[in-house]
Amino acid sequence: MIKSLSVSGTESKWIKVGTLLNGIDRPVKDAHIVFDSISIKYSGQKSPPKSLVPDGQSTPDLDLPEYTLLPGLIEAHAHLFLEGAELDFQKRKDFLQQSSDELLEKAKERLQKLVSLGIIAYRDAGDKNGVGLALSKIYQNGKRSIMPYVDSPGAAIHHLGRYGSFMAEPIENHDSLKDVVRERVKKGADRIKLIPTGIINFKSACVTKEPQMTVDEVSKLVEVSKELGRQTFAHASGDDGIDLVIEGNADSVEHGFFIRDDQLSRMRDKQIAWVPTFTPVQKQVDHAAEMGWDDTIKCNLQKILDGHAKSLCKAFEMGVLVIGGSDAGSVGVAHGIGFYDELELMEKAGVDPVSVINSATGVSSKRLDFKEKFGIIEKGYKSRFILTKNSPVETVKNLRKEKFVCFDGQVFQSDEKFDSSGL
Ligand SMILES: [Zn+2]
Repeated sequence: MIKSLSVSGTESKWIKVGTLLNGIDRPVKDAHIVFDSISIKYSGQKSPPKSLVPDGQSTPDLDLPEYTLLPGLIEAHAHLFLEGAELDFQKRKDFLQQSSDELLEKAKERLQKLVSLGIIAYRDAGDKNGVGLALSKIYQNGKRSIMPYVDSPGAAIHHLGRYGSFMAEPIENHDSLKDVVRERVKKGADRIKLIPTGIINFKSACVTKEPQMTVDEVSKLVEVSKELGRQTFAHASGDDGIDLVIEGNADSVEHGFFIRDDQLSRMRDKQIAWVPTFTPVQKQVDHAAEMGWDDTIKCNLQKILDGHAKSLCKAFEMGVLVIGGSDAGSVGVAHGIGFYDELELMEKAGVDPVSVINSATGVSSKRLDFKEKFGIIEKGYKSRFILTKNSPVETVKNLRKEKFVCFDGQVFQSDEKFDSSGL
């Protein structure tokens, strides 16, 4: 039945659904949506205007009272060059021995699968093999098979000898901070990724190293990026590192482990978004034995996650712009499936399912300056949405269950038995 919703060109369909989540507001009951293969033409609780439906048609093409319609999901932090699910350290290392072309081919296969999971857009978070940039270009030139929107920063920016060398290139390769950003933009970067801090030392369960950038460096990199029309997103964990990212006015704090409440309130005031990425740390707990962590370390990691969960609830209470991103590609974090994990962890932290979904759709769409309109069910936004009988308003866990994904006029289907190999 849902498969009959496939459309081509400007042929349009009119449907009525039991529940509509538009990506921004609370759910509404009994909503009408008219769409063609390109965009949504109408969304609302009244019947669509006559001009949008064929002469004489007075009822929807399909009436779906048991279904919820929601925007396709936006994964705001993922590394497409990496295969996430793999846990074995040596196998992960071997995987990266492949050529850039081979890594790109694997990423393309991955992306096609992700559409069926309802993931319609990706903000790649950096690689130095050019995989993200190549995918962004493939998407933009239009001559491609079905894939989610992708944009990419290319190589992230870090300091020589400090954390991030697997996905970043050092500032030291250039004469000035201005040149660093200019070179990224010249290579096609859609946005600029900064790595101002190190990462959590899992063994000691804290950030052991000093930040790698100064406030002045972050500020300058952000300023030049803005001049060139690019948003910045900054990897930051440890409260001293988070401080300088806020001070330097980056557009978002990525990860943000050990964030303080006063930092959250400054982020709200400056409209700096937070992408909390619970999943990579959760995976360290879930696979503690394989990772070589004893019970003490496992317990410390759990404490970090508990603190992060508290901060997340605080952030929602305070009105911080929280955006869903899983850091897929990290150890144990499969693309797509890992994003479901992330949304579930946000819900488990105490955030209601609708707010979680909004953080992965409308909030993301409005804050992250994507080149196209998606993630919201409203006139003019792309026809990329999910239809499901398993209400995600009850729990986001239901997103894993059977659902249909309408994507640019085509209809895809997936459920828990989805073949997740290669993700
Ligand atoms: Zn990352």
